[in-house]
Amino acid sequence: MKPFEYTKPKTVREALSSANSHSQYIAGGTNLVDLMKKQIDEPDKLLDITDTLPNTIEVKDNGVVIGAMVRNTAIAVNKAIMESWPLLSKAILKGASPQIRNMASAGGNLLQRTRCPYFYDLTLPCNKRKNGSGCGAIKGNNRMGAIIGYSDACVAVYPSDMCVALAALDAKVNIRKADGSEDTMNFLDFHRLPGNNPEKDNNLPENALITSIFVPKNNFSKHFEYLKLRDRESYAFALVSVAAALDLDGNQIREARLASGGVAHKPWRWTKAENFLKGKQATSENFAEAAKIAAEDTSPLSDNAFKVPLLKGAIETALLTCLTNKA
Ligand SMILES: Cc1cc2nc3c(=O)[nH]c(=O)nc-3n(C[C@H](O)[C@H](O)[C@H](O)COP(=O)(O)OP(=O)(O)OC[C@H]3O[C@@H](n4cnc5c(N)ncnc54)[C@H](O)[C@@H]3O)c2cc1C
Ligand code: SF4
Repeated sequence: MKPFEYTKPKTVREALSSANSHSQYIAGGTNLVDLMKKQIDEPDKLLDITDTLPNTIEVKDNGVVIGAMVRNTAIAVNKAIMESWPLLSKAILKGASPQIRNMASAGGNLLQRTRCPYFYDLTLPCNKRKNGSGCGAIKGNNRMGAIIGYSDACVAVYPSDMCVALAALDAKVNIRKADGSEDTMNFLDFHRLPGNNPEKDNNLPENALITSIFVPKNNFSKHFEYLKLRDRESYAFALVSVAAALDLDGNQIREARLASGGVAHKPWRWTKAENFLKGKQATSENFAEAAKIAAEDTSPLSDNAFKVPLLKGAIETALLTCLTNKA
């Protein structure tokens, strides 16, 4: 690992003014330290933000504000989150291991990098690591790769579970920019599709800090499911995941939310399928049709055609489970 300077700013202002193009913020370190050990990320300076950012969960009239420094476990087991946003709790508990969840922060979870094997092997081409070097996965091993929203430059998927739930729940990301000004981004605009610049995972301005995440109040706490399909039942990233939530009036669907991980460069919302379900009866036939509508937009790579039927099955199952899940 390259030598680096380490400092621990006390305030957001101090962190922002200490940041430059050769520095990196460090929160739980569960992703960044791995990248540094593998020499993929080589900052000159680490700014430890653990004393800088809020680590509180604040319930307000219109939703909940989760400080960027709240550890993943603390979010998942928070009483208010379990009662009012149980989809978020369930998605977090499907990620990583208890030890990693105890360290991983809310902000860091949003900024974790892809698990594409070519990205981690410095001897192989990867446009995300070094744009212009090529994409080893596109004609190589792309079993874990995207089935929607990819480009000729990158077919990697985004790995977070928590973010799939946040995408489904219309969350917002509060940020503080390098000039000290505050901004709020819709969660769905936060992460990017690869296009010609796969090295850029998200739209966070340079050196900006995520300060908190806002999840609005909703009527999805009674009927929800986070289904994660993977090679091993624990401690593995999703091949396909589905966050599903229904707001029901009797058996009629007022609103539906459907998002997936493991399918695209960002958490993916199946809006056409959601619109199809709105106003319909909550029946297995309608759920199967919604899954078909979602799958119609996918276009698998050479090694991952299996993900399409997997996705359809996962959507149908998750929606059916929404009818019986209890918070
Ligand atoms: C073996 C393993 C298995 C895993 N499995 C899963 C899984 O199944 N599902 C899943 O969702 N995740 C999984 N993870 C990922 C884990 O959830 C992330 O590593 C973690 O959420 C990152 O949070 P952190 O606080 O440790 O971030 P760090 O490693 O400290 O930082 C990550 C990046 O975010 C930046 N950063 C951190 N906080 C902020 C902030 N507030 N503002 C601006 N920049 C910031 C850092 O500069 C860095 O670039 C796994 C990780 C490991 C190591
Ligand atoms: S899919 Fe993306 S991350 Fe993987 S090798 Fe290609 S450019 Fe790199």
